[in-house]
Amino acid sequence: MTHHDVIIIGAGFAGLYQLHRLRGLGFDVRVVEAGGDVGGTWYWNRYPGARCDIESIEYSYSFDPDLEQEWDWTERYASQSEILAYARHVAERYDLRRDVVLNTRVEALDWDDEANRWTVTTDDGATSTARFVVAATGCLSMPSKPEFPGRDEFRGEQYWTSSWPHEGVDLSGKRVAVIGTGSSGLQTITAIGPDVASMVVFQRTPSYAIPARNGPVGERLREVRGHYPEFRELSRMAKTGFQCGEEETGWFVETDRDTADRELERRWLEGGLCYTQTFQDVLRDAEANEAASEYVRARIRQKVDDPVTAAKLTPTSYPVGAKRMCVDTGYFETFNRDNVSLVDINEEPIRRITERGIVAGDTEYEVDVIVFATGFDAMTGALNAIDIRSGGTTLREKWATGPRTYLGLMSAGFPNLFTITGPQSPSVLSNMMTSIEYHVDWIANALQHLRDHDLERIEPDPAAEDNWVTTTNDVADLTLMPRAASWYMGANIPGKQRVFMPFVGGVGTYKQYCDGIAIAHYHGFELT
Ligand code: FAD
Repeated sequence: MTHHDVIIIGAGFAGLYQLHRLRGLGFDVRVVEAGGDVGGTWYWNRYPGARCDIESIEYSYSFDPDLEQEWDWTERYASQSEILAYARHVAERYDLRRDVVLNTRVEALDWDDEANRWTVTTDDGATSTARFVVAATGCLSMPSKPEFPGRDEFRGEQYWTSSWPHEGVDLSGKRVAVIGTGSSGLQTITAIGPDVASMVVFQRTPSYAIPARNGPVGERLREVRGHYPEFRELSRMAKTGFQCGEEETGWFVETDRDTADRELERRWLEGGLCYTQTFQDVLRDAEANEAASEYVRARIRQKVDDPVTAAKLTPTSYPVGAKRMCVDTGYFETFNRDNVSLVDINEEPIRRITERGIVAGDTEYEVDVIVFATGFDAMTGALNAIDIRSGGTTLREKWATGPRTYLGLMSAGFPNLFTITGPQSPSVLSNMMTSIEYHVDWIANALQHLRDHDLERIEPDPAAEDNWVTTTNDVADLTLMPRAASWYMGANIPGKQRVFMPFVGGVGTYKQYCDGIAIAHYHGFELT
């Protein structure tokens, strides 16, 4: 059995940077990763068209100015392969691999209250111990795989976007079914449409998608490189951890209708996720949101030739931004192709999978390949998959009615266990790189503080945690966000408690609050 100061679970962007930071502080650290290489999300999700929807100049590490200057992004929105190459470059550049154990899954964590340390059990049967554990397990790393009756009988090929074969899949000339129209489904559908013989898309909920306006990053990268420190500081203080010109953004309720329409058009033409920040009140005020939602709906109706298909693709049942927004490059136009059709499973529910294809309503759709783009058990899935035990209870039991954390960083009763981008932090509502770096630095500073003061243990005070959970819920209720049955709410997982999980109060606000907690001698935490 080996002992380490810190064991980190996961070698995505969070785990890699946490290793680098803690190693730099002289801690003995080991990373355990289930996958066959570093990169996390970008290692697993290799489906056709996989791409970031935050701009590459924002979706990158800021911790080393040399790294910022030397890495060349090629496009405004980086592809999966380029982001994975970046993660690998980082692993090499900082010599991280020597402390990363690959192809190994952490199955259990057991807290020893006497010795103040965790016992970590992995799927190869080995155990190790660590004073601290950092769960860098990812918010979107536990695929949701709904059971479809008859799936085993299907004679064709089946793939999940979340674990796409590394050698790639040749879909050309094949009849393909895609189930799911969230971000991954939408990117896959757009990418494979021109290659496949035919494609039938099964949709439960239509997505709002804003054009990416992707292209070479070119001049913009050179310009930002000239002032990266200031640029990053603005991103850290921005609401979403990336810049949308918030300082110039007005309120819909104070704007006349012509000006409002021009603003919506400007944002639409700029492209990308800043669309919901056209006005300060888009995610707070029903009228403002309806204007922003209707603008997108009108664009969808313009893009799709067949009015019946257009109506099915147009989201009407929830406010724009309340489910994860998509960024697209020709998604809606894909449905103008003769070889592509759409099935609304609210009208024609999927009854079963047969050896030949999918039965929805009264029709059997015969296909050669089924692609499942069915999303993730978001935010809590990867954590709850580990048997985490402390003081006679498990984290899974504690979180049965929804996650409970202090600042999204720790959960009371589970000392010395940190979660990067955990529930009740901005996480999935932000540029994850900004949020990851913030949490990693906060945790590194906390561990250094403990060591400097000869302390061994940190855990949240239950009262502080209760307050934070209440605050998170109250802030969410001030917005329109809980009005959609989204994965932010756990609504895509049968039986999962419906609670709005991320902190919606903004990255900059959150950072200031957590900085203040640390300065106030880790107020709300017990340090012993
Ligand atoms: P991950 O990258 O998920 O890495 C976690 C790692 O932990 C995984 O490799 C996993 O194998 C490992 N792990 C989990 N449990 C265990 C265990 N028990 N034992 C061992 N290892 C374990 N974010 C954005 O900000 N912008 C985007 O445009 C964007 N696009 C995305 C597109 C897709 C398709 C997906 C799935 C996510 C996207 N995200 C995006 C979110 C993305 O997850 C984060 O940006 C970021 O990559 C998360 O890094 P991470 O290290 O926290 O987690």
